[in-house]
Amino acid sequence: MDTVIKRWYDLISIDSVDGHEVNAADYVAEVLRSFGIEPHYSYFPDDSDKQRPSIWCVLDSGKPGKTMMLIGHIDTVAVNLKNWNTNPFKPTEIDGKVYGRGAMDMKGGIADILSVFEYFSKHKEEFTGRLLGCFVADEEGLSKGTYQLVEEGNIGADYAIMAECRYDNVAVGFRGRLSFEVIVHGRAGHTCRYPESGENAIITAGKLAEAIEALPTATHPKLIKGTWCVRYMCGGSTATLIVPDSCLIFLDRYVVPGENEESCIKQIEELAERMGLADKVEVRLKPRSSPYMKSFAVPEDHELVNALRESFHEVTGENLPCAYDPSICDSNILAVSLGIPVVTFGPSGGNMHGDNEYGYPYQVKNCLEIYIKTVKKLMK
Ligand SMILES: [Zn+2]
Repeated sequence: MDTVIKRWYDLISIDSVDGHEVNAADYVAEVLRSFGIEPHYSYFPDDSDKQRPSIWCVLDSGKPGKTMMLIGHIDTVAVNLKNWNTNPFKPTEIDGKVYGRGAMDMKGGIADILSVFEYFSKHKEEFTGRLLGCFVADEEGLSKGTYQLVEEGNIGADYAIMAECRYDNVAVGFRGRLSFEVIVHGRAGHTCRYPESGENAIITAGKLAEAIEALPTATHPKLIKGTWCVRYMCGGSTATLIVPDSCLIFLDRYVVPGENEESCIKQIEELAERMGLADKVEVRLKPRSSPYMKSFAVPEDHELVNALRESFHEVTGENLPCAYDPSICDSNILAVSLGIPVVTFGPSGGNMHGDNEYGYPYQVKNCLEIYIKTVKKLMK
């Protein structure tokens, strides 16, 4: 069996469901040590039991040059055992597909990054500058692993390849996402005197919620536009005869470049003003323990994009189109927090985040070659 495929199988066999990354991290560290590369452990502050490390490492060519980051996540989403046809932690090949949790998202990408490090640790004369490897925890949660690496300040780079499962195209831009809480105030009163007495916050919030979803968003030639989605609302009580005096609207807001927390809050506040509700509405960003992801787009003619697409063509004989993703991933953090041009491309498969997830061995092998060629082109 090919070494990279063996590593992919090994990683699938290790349960690293989000929250339990330690065994996968230890495996990555051990493999890196076998190439003579020192793994560094990184823990986020609320992981007091040290069960959720991320690993990072550097391979220096010994010659001055640029830094290329190769990054992926070691955690997976959870499994619902009764819906699987195979053991999700025992890679099983059927008709050219390998089934297992993380087979697609994204243990093939992690195996590839490890094998890139193996290759260049044996062929230091074939590149200049430094390779930086990041194997992060909690991507399927709040991306605390990547944010912690950013916080620690060790992961600057000139280029980054996010080895996420995406093989038919390379993502060069992503939208960002924010969540807002809008609190609408009414006036309590006995329900037997309503509507003469009391002011129903739920009714007001309903009108406001509908108007929020109709608000315009900025546009982008490729990421198209932002979105507003009222995702949850609550207010009032089933227990007592009180006219609801407050109602919460929970909003999801995808953004494109040019939109941010301030611009979105301003839009809602101005809407409330127009509806005569200025003194009845409070808007705030929903607090969370890691920052929100902002939108970005790397130019399609950037040298990193060109090098990856050329390498893809050399390996597969086919063209790799550029794509723009309506969602978010850790690439947003690298591009926005660290200003690193990042492309998102890696071995893919099917049933991502679902039952009977699978990946393709040929894609794992091809991506390894494509990554090696890309490094050589940019860091000669
Ligand atoms: Zn993923």
